[in-house]
Amino acid sequence: AREAAAANSGGPGATADGHRVPLLANIGGPKDLPAALENGAEGVGLYRTEFLFLDRGDAPGHEEQVEAYRTVLDAFPAGSKVVVRTLDAGADKPLAFLPPPGEEPNPALGVRGLRMMRRHPEMLSSQLSALAEAAGGAQAVLNVMAPMVTDAEDAAWFAERAREAGIEHAGVMVEVPAAALGARHLARSADFFSIGTNDLTQYACAADREAGGLGRFQDPWQPGVLELIATTARAAAAADRPCGVCGEAAADPLLACVLVGAGVTTLSMGASALPLVRAALGRATLEECKAAASAALDAPGADEAKRAAREALPGVA
Ligand code: PEP
Ligand code: MG
Repeated sequence: AREAAAANSGGPGATADGHRVPLLANIGGPKDLPAALENGAEGVGLYRTEFLFLDRGDAPGHEEQVEAYRTVLDAFPAGSKVVVRTLDAGADKPLAFLPPPGEEPNPALGVRGLRMMRRHPEMLSSQLSALAEAAGGAQAVLNVMAPMVTDAEDAAWFAERAREAGIEHAGVMVEVPAAALGARHLARSADFFSIGTNDLTQYACAADREAGGLGRFQDPWQPGVLELIATTARAAAAADRPCGVCGEAAADPLLACVLVGAGVTTLSMGASALPLVRAALGRATLEECKAAASAALDAPGADEAKRAAREALPGVA
């Protein structure tokens, strides 16, 4: 079934001139695997594990976690990448049994993501140990990453927890502007970067991702957001680290080409977006993507950036 799905889905991601860009799926759990496979996902770039923890009074037990993680790892062939994000609790993803430590006037700027896990290290360690057990015997390669990492100290702390659990590949999400600007420092302990453009846009433009009426400030084409992405990708390349994008930006076919041109090495998105992004990439050469990235980065606003990218990528837009 896996071979049939791959055959129907147009093959692995690459530019028109054959520059490989693995196209991965964002999933919330095993229920999302059929769509990922049908749309030709080459692996998982973001497994949002909070869904396993939602709507319950306590954290899931070891065996329950191992089973969910193993089902996902077993769905992909040898050598493919499965990137599991450790629990991202707080702010827009509140969990009943992990309340914020006190009154938070601005939950998005409070204790969330890795910050919450640093206050409950036993919960992170039990998740990592379930992941390590699930990866034993799996053919896909387990990668873990932490959400809401801010600085090199955060990255080092997370890498140490992953190492203690026996997990070899540990990276960080880049969702906080300070992490993007400091990516070269984070690279000392992060094996890879994955840019979460939903939160990165929210924090770069100071515009709540949940709020209506903020229009253009919720657009990843904003010059400030593109600049943060390019800075991260450059730092990753200099440190020889992969740099993916797993936010909504990766699902926009035109922006996906711009991201590749800016040096992003993998794209992860909701499964339904995979065919259009695969087709767009297949119609642009790497040089055209680079020209589009450079033109978009030179644009003074989001609309101008889109227009410039369309002009540089006539085969795509
Ligand atoms: C992001 O912030 O871009 C991201 C991929 O994570 P989430 O949407 O789950 O916060
Ligand atoms: Mg996020």
